[in-house]
Amino acid sequence: MNSLLSKYLFYYPVTLAKGELIAFYRKGYEKRQWWSSRELAAYQDEHFEKIVKYAVENSSYYREHLSSSITNGSIKASSDFPTLSKAQLINNLESIRANNTGLFSSAKTTGGSTGEPVKIFKNASALARERCATWRSYEWAGVGVADRQVRFWGVPHSRSGRLTARVIDLIANRKRISAFSINDESLLRYYNELCDFQPQYLYGYVSVIEEFARFIQSKQLKPPTSLVSLITTSEVLSDSSRMFIENVFQRKVFNEYGCGEVGSIAHECEHGSMHVMADNLHVEIDAEPGQPGEIIVTDYFNHVTPLVRYRLGDFATLGDDACRCGRGLPTISKIHGRAYDIIRSPNGTRIHPEALIYIFEGIQQKMPVFKQFQAIQTDIDAISVNIVPNLSWDDSFDAALKGQLIEAIGAEFKFEVNLVESLSRERSGKMRVVKSMLD
Ligand SMILES: [Zn+2]
Repeated sequence: MNSLLSKYLFYYPVTLAKGELIAFYRKGYEKRQWWSSRELAAYQDEHFEKIVKYAVENSSYYREHLSSSITNGSIKASSDFPTLSKAQLINNLESIRANNTGLFSSAKTTGGSTGEPVKIFKNASALARERCATWRSYEWAGVGVADRQVRFWGVPHSRSGRLTARVIDLIANRKRISAFSINDESLLRYYNELCDFQPQYLYGYVSVIEEFARFIQSKQLKPPTSLVSLITTSEVLSDSSRMFIENVFQRKVFNEYGCGEVGSIAHECEHGSMHVMADNLHVEIDAEPGQPGEIIVTDYFNHVTPLVRYRLGDFATLGDDACRCGRGLPTISKIHGRAYDIIRSPNGTRIHPEALIYIFEGIQQKMPVFKQFQAIQTDIDAISVNIVPNLSWDDSFDAALKGQLIEAIGAEFKFEVNLVESLSRERSGKMRVVKSMLD
């Protein structure tokens, strides 16, 4: 569909009906990217103080944990406040949730890529601001709200989930290509669909877009000429992957870094710097300047599940030079991101790890019966699942989980479920939640 038509006929009316005043906030986001770092820092101090005071007033968890760091009603440095780990968030969801949550809020189950899915809530204005920051960064990649997008992404396993996804895709003027089932046959079908749809940009997992590029190259197909750019996300983009994708499509790749809990965290500009969405989030790195450390974020606007100094479990290094683009938004020089492997089925289909992560997030959304999970492909037809259970886990979940795994990724696998006390990490310290022992 034409971008303008889609924007004014679907996107703005539907988001408005959900209480998201996107058009109202957008000007501010356009403006603030050009503020000096000093102006931005003042804005950040003001909003950090606001959200901390809001959290203390409205959430019993934060009242207990943050009050003592506020001296005489004033807030000095963010580092005076304790951090919130993912485990603490999961174990204290009810007491963290604010008692004053307003009319419009949405639930989101997220964080599966670290092996610890969690369900949080977000108010409509925070969601609208999250979308504004995202759209602003897409403009750096040369694309606008409701431009035609082909999305290499997960497809929900349930029928109702798939239907909802289809409606959302229609509203957002995008076509979804399943990242969960990739083989030569499906890739050719996707290529034909993509040429018909004429997208202005491709968006999705690095590994799947790279696989698609490899297919186009090996079959000597013509890359779609409608493309303006590509936006990759959710996985580490290596220099070699970037060069390969750019070479095949003859378009620039822009990398995005974000997570479900807070949305877009950083995005590449035209000059290749990863700029932080500093007018939505306070981003700290738990290390000496210039050193890699764990990312800690504070969401200024989530008034339902406030996140103050939340540890993401990902590692990054802050940048120090001003970017040539002139934007004052601070930069991240390197993200040492999430790691997982592709699963290969006996019939040769490549299954994206998010297909498994979706299942565990889905279970957690209904009932938090486990703390962490890890799936390991031990043989071409065998997947072993390690679960760190909660007290609410019972044996019936074992069969239910196996049933869902078979339905989602195929009956040709044998699944084994083991209950364990803790999961083992890689030597690097990274948690590989979907792991293949095949190569
Ligand atoms: Zn820049």
